[in-house]
Parts: sequence; structure tokens; C-alpha cells
Amino acid sequence: TDAREILDYQTFGRAVRELAQTIADDGYVPDLVLSIARGGVFVAGGLAYALDCKNIHLVNVEFYTGVGTTLDMPVMLAPVPAAIDFTDKKVLIADDVADTGKTLRLVHDFCLDHVAEVRSAVVYEKPHSLVKCEYVWKRTDDWIEFPWSAEGPVVRRAGQVLDA
Ligand code: 5GP
Repeated sequence: TDAREILDYQTFGRAVRELAQTIADDGYVPDLVLSIARGGVFVAGGLAYALDCKNIHLVNVEFYTGVGTTLDMPVMLAPVPAAIDFTDKKVLIADDVADTGKTLRLVHDFCLDHVAEVRSAVVYEKPHSLVKCEYVWKRTDDWIEFPWSAEGPVVRRAGQVLDA
């Protein structure tokens, strides 16, 4: 479809608080939040504050190359978090959206081998996702426009360079 789900920063702030409240009400107390960069970093930061969890880790996964265009498979980019950090830990994986679910499955299965317990939290989950996350703020079938990627990178303007 051509429909877009547009998330602005203010609504995102509310979404993260509501997601955290759901996790807290469920009694899940993660030892660490594992964010999937780059989109999951925003989600992980908000959840970690709201859940009073001071430990954030990050994994880089590359999959999407454009709107609806992907590599064949998501790949974890180096450096992969050291397994030793995760032993006996309760992990909360945080990402912006589970679309095909392949990215989350990759990270989730990586964690399963190393941690005591792992659950996933996303702002959005699409109905066809092959991973069903424990915590979802909203379900949609549309392409989502996130506030951090809606405008594209900034471009340096002429006349803004300070002399050394
Ligand atoms: P998946 O592996 O679940 O198909 O996709 C995971 C990643 O692809 C997300 O973390 C996100 O970065 C990107 N992605 C998937 N669907 C969307 C979407 O609807 N909008 C945006 N902006 N990114 C998406």
C-alpha cells in the first residue's frame, strides 16, 4: 500500500512511556536493554530511563537499503556484543519496528544462546512479522515514517564553515 504511518517526536515520547508501563506492569525487570541500531537506539534510551535500567548495549544490523528494498538477509555488523556480558542476564531487545521480523529474529536467536531470558519490545509490529514481540505499542501494515529518519541527513550549507 502507499499509506504512511507518521510518527512525530511527541507521539514517540508517549509511545515509549506506554511501552515501558506495559513492561513494568508485566513484571519484567531487564538487567540490560539491547538496542538494534540505528532506529532501536531511540527506543532503548527511552525504555531504559523509564524502566530505571542503567545498562544499554547495542548491536548493528543492516537490512534495509530503501523504502521496502532489502538485502537478502539481515547481517550483524561488527562489533558483535561479547557473550560474556550477557551470561545470566535478563535482556530486553528494543527496536523501532518488527516488519518482516528477520532482524529481530537474528538478534533474538543470538541472545538465546547466551542469556537467562530474552524478550522484545517494539514501537510497531506488522501483521506479517515472523517474530511476535512480547511488547508492542501499535500494529500497522503501512510503511512507517520515523521522526529521526523522516528528513534525511543534514547537508552542510555554504558560508557556515568557521576559519581554523
Ligand atoms: P525487519 O527485519 O523486521 O523486516 O526490519 C527491521 C528494520 O527495518 C527496522 O528496525 C527498521 O529500521 C527497518 N524498517 C522496517 N520497516 C520499516 C518501516 O515501515 N519504516 C521504516 N522507516 N523503517 C522500517
